[in-house]
Amino acid sequence: MHYRVKKVVVGDLDTNCYIIKQDDTRNAVVIDPGDDAILIKSELHEMDAFPAVILLTHGHFDHILALDELRTEKTVVCIHKNDAHKLKEKELIAAWAKSNPWPFKDADVVFGEKDRHVNVGGFSFEVIHTPGHTEGSVCYLFGDMLFTGDTLFKNGMGRVDFEGGNANKMASSLRLLGNMPGDYAVYPGHDRETTLSEEKLHNPYMKEVMKK
Ligand SMILES: [Zn+2]
Ligand SMILES: [Zn+2]
Repeated sequence: MHYRVKKVVVGDLDTNCYIIKQDDTRNAVVIDPGDDAILIKSELHEMDAFPAVILLTHGHFDHILALDELRTEKTVVCIHKNDAHKLKEKELIAAWAKSNPWPFKDADVVFGEKDRHVNVGGFSFEVIHTPGHTEGSVCYLFGDMLFTGDTLFKNGMGRVDFEGGNANKMASSLRLLGNMPGDYAVYPGHDRETTLSEEKLHNPYMKEVMKK
C-alpha cells in the first residue's frame, strides 16, 4: 500500500498533525488535529482528501482542539480507552488554550488491550499502546511509518509529570518501540521526523532503557 503523508503544524504548542492518504481513494486519516481546523481543511482540500478516520495519539488538548470542527457524520474517530475520558474533561493546563470546545463528542472507536492489528475506515494499521506520557498514549503504525505522538521525539521523549504520566511505564514503552524489528520512519507529535534506528543510536532516553 502506498501512502502520501502531509504534515501540518498547528496551535500554540506547534503540534504535528499528519494527513495520510492512499493513492487510490479520497479517504484520508488525520492524526492529532490539535488546532486550526481551517488550515487542516484547506490541506485536505488541496489533497482532494476526505477525513474518513481521525486517530488520536492521546487526549491532551494540543492534539484534539480541532476534533469536532473537522469530523463529519461519516468520520470515524478513534482513541485508546484510557484517554477517552479526556474528551469530556477540560485539562487544567488547557486553561489558556484560545478555543474552548469541551466537552467533545465521544469517540466512535475506543481501542483496548486486544486491539493491535485493526481495520478502520478501509485503513489497516497497528495500534501500539505506549503509556507513560498519558495512560492512553498510543503509537500508530502504517507500513513502515510510526506515528509516536508525545511518546517518542527526535532526541527526546514526552513529559511524564502531567496527570496520568508515569516514568516507569514510559521506560517500558520506549523499550517496546526499541525492540521492534527492522527500521521505521518516525513521525512524532512535535518537532522533526526521525527514524527508529537513529533514535536507538542517539536518543539518550532510548539508549538508557535499551541497556537494561
Ligand atoms: Zn501530550
Ligand atoms: Zn503534545
